[in-house]
Formats: sequence, structure tokens, C-alpha cells
Amino acid sequence: METQNLKDIFSEGLFEDEVRFMEPMKNHTSLKIGGPADIFAMPQDLSSLKNMHINLKRNKIPFSPIGGGTNILVRDGGIEGAVISLRSFRRTGVLSKDNEYMYLFAEAGTLLQRIVNFSKENGYSGIEGLAGIPGTVGGAIFGNAGAFGYEMKDVLVSVEVMDIEGRIKMFKAEEINFGHRSSSISRNELILAAEIKLKKDEKEEVSAKVDDFLRKKREKQPLWEPSAGCVFKNPAGLSAGKLIDEAGCKGMRIGDVEVSSIHANFFINKGKANASDFIRLMEEVARRVKERFGVVLEPEIKIVGRDNVNG
Ligand SMILES: Cc1cc2nc3c(=O)[nH]c(=O)nc-3n(C[C@H](O)[C@H](O)[C@H](O)COP(=O)(O)OP(=O)(O)OC[C@H]3O[C@@H](n4cnc5c(N)ncnc54)[C@H](O)[C@@H]3O)c2cc1C
Repeated sequence: METQNLKDIFSEGLFEDEVRFMEPMKNHTSLKIGGPADIFAMPQDLSSLKNMHINLKRNKIPFSPIGGGTNILVRDGGIEGAVISLRSFRRTGVLSKDNEYMYLFAEAGTLLQRIVNFSKENGYSGIEGLAGIPGTVGGAIFGNAGAFGYEMKDVLVSVEVMDIEGRIKMFKAEEINFGHRSSSISRNELILAAEIKLKKDEKEEVSAKVDDFLRKKREKQPLWEPSAGCVFKNPAGLSAGKLIDEAGCKGMRIGDVEVSSIHANFFINKGKANASDFIRLMEEVARRVKERFGVVLEPEIKIVGRDNVNG
């Protein structure tokens, strides 16, 4: 659909500061890669989100959610339709607590590290291993973020979702199928908020664990360079990073995309990288690992968008 048509649909004075057109996605991803989204929507509250949803559905405009943009690779042609950012949905609060557990409410746009810091400062455990993982609560639930044996699913009680029809539904954590860095939540569903359960623990112990995990992460991962975290999932019982390293791929480069020499499963944007070079490097690394070890690597990052603006 032409930009002008999209502007007509969204220029009813309803969404003034909440919608941008042809917005470069490289401004919204940790990789600093990605062509323009036809529409980039940042609803300020639920009623605005509902109105946008009605508008998008009525006009058959596809849409997809984004959190912190720390686990996605957007193709160079950008994204057709609307990208919905819930960055304004950041309310958190304590729902209840007893001698053993604290139950928290967090909207989807809340930074995951805010919950980790809360657990550290107040002596509640369950989420320590997620220390240092960038992005939002919504993104962490969608991809079941995890590290050091901890996973997002383990602290979830329930998730509030807006489905493709715009209906708001509540799912208990047990009703969602979580796998390794995946969930059964579909790409057209918007996670709005979650209830999180943390266990009372010794403050010093929780704090020491968080600091220790953070130190390990800083030692092993190039956190200061633009990346999207691990590019490939770990195959069962194996480390993707180790396989890539042993296949001789550390330091390999196509255009401005480089396999990190610190952690081989991190690909770095060394300057003006584009998505097509990133994907070519992924294919080449996967080919070498397959040739050397017979193991097929599967992407962990979510690759979205179109190859060029007209397609
Ligand atoms: C330096 C670095 C280190 C990292 N370390 C780890 C690690 O140790 N472990 C780990 O698991 N990951 C790690 N990651 C990857 C990433 O940070 C996590 O996957 C994170 O949970 C993604 O959250 P996000 O908000 O940025 O999601 P995004 O990248 O914005 O989105 C990821 C996916 O989630 C969907 N999504 C986002 N928000 C919503 C929502 N509200 N409703 C529905 N769907 C939604 C998007 O549509 C997309 O498909 C790392 C990344 C970086 C850059």
C-alpha cells in the first residue's frame, strides 16, 4: 500500500505522535540493521492500541509486535504494514505476597532488567540467570529468554494477550507451550502484560548470583558491540558457539558483518552492515558447521521483513 494511502488511513487526528511512516528499523534494533517499516506505531495506552488495531484490521494491513529489538534481524526492504511497539506499556507493581512468594505485574514494554534488579534489591530468586539480557518482558516471554539454566517460563504465572481479532485473553503459563527460546504465542498476538512469581530468598545470595552471572556474561559475550545476541539455537546437548568456533568461523566477515572473535555465536555490525550480508554470513557459517560436524544449525534470531521496499 502507498505511503500516502497509509497516511490517509492514520491521519484522522487520532494517532498524531503515535505513528511514523517509513520509519527506519535500524533505529529500533540492537543490530542497527533494517529497512523502513511502512508504519511504526507506538500506542500510548490500551484504548489507543485498540483503535489502531481496529484501523489496521479494517484496512487489512498486516502488523507485528516489537519489544526492544534485541533479537530480530530486519531485512533491508523493511517491514510491510505496521510494527507495533509497546514501549509505553511499562507499568509494574506488586500484586500480592506471602511468606514464600511475591507476585508481580509487569506490562510488556517493561525492561526485563527492571525485574532482575527488583529481585536483586529485594531478595527474591528465580530470575537471576536472566541478568544482563537486554529487551523487554514481552520479548522475553515470546522467545522464552534464558541463560545459565534459568528461563523466562519458570517465573511466569499468566500472560495477557491481545489476539488477532483484538480480543484480550488471559493465558495461564501452563497453557502456553514453551520450548528452547520459543513459545506457542503466535506472531500476530500482542503480549500486553504478565504476572511473574518470585521466591523469597536471602538478599545477599540473590545479589551475589546476579553479579556472578553478569560477570560471566561480560567475560564471554561482546556486550559493547551491536549484535542481536546468539544467532543460532544450541542444538540438543551441544553449543552452537563452540561448533562455529571449531568449524574455523571466528572472525569471518561478509561486508560489515563479522563473526565475533569473543563469542562465535554473536555476529557483530562493524559499521554499516546490511541484512543481506548478515544472512549470507549465517548461511556460510551454517554450511561450514554442517560440512564439518553434520549438525544443522537453526536460527535463534527472528528474521523479519521483505527483501526490498517493493517486494
Ligand atoms: C548482547 C545481547 C545478549 C543477549 N543475551 C541473551 C541471553 O543470554 N539469552 C537469551 O535468551 N537472549 C539473549 N539475547 C537476545 C534478546 O535480548 C532476548 O531474546 C530478548 O528477550 C528479546 O527481547 P526484545 O524485547 O528485545 O524482543 P524483540 O527483539 O523486540 O522481539 C523478539 C520477538 O519477540 C516478539 N515480541 C516482542 N515483544 C512482543 C510482545 N509484546 N508481544 C508479542 N510478541 C513480542 C517480536 O515480534 C519478535 O518476534 C541477547 C541479545 C543481545 C543483544
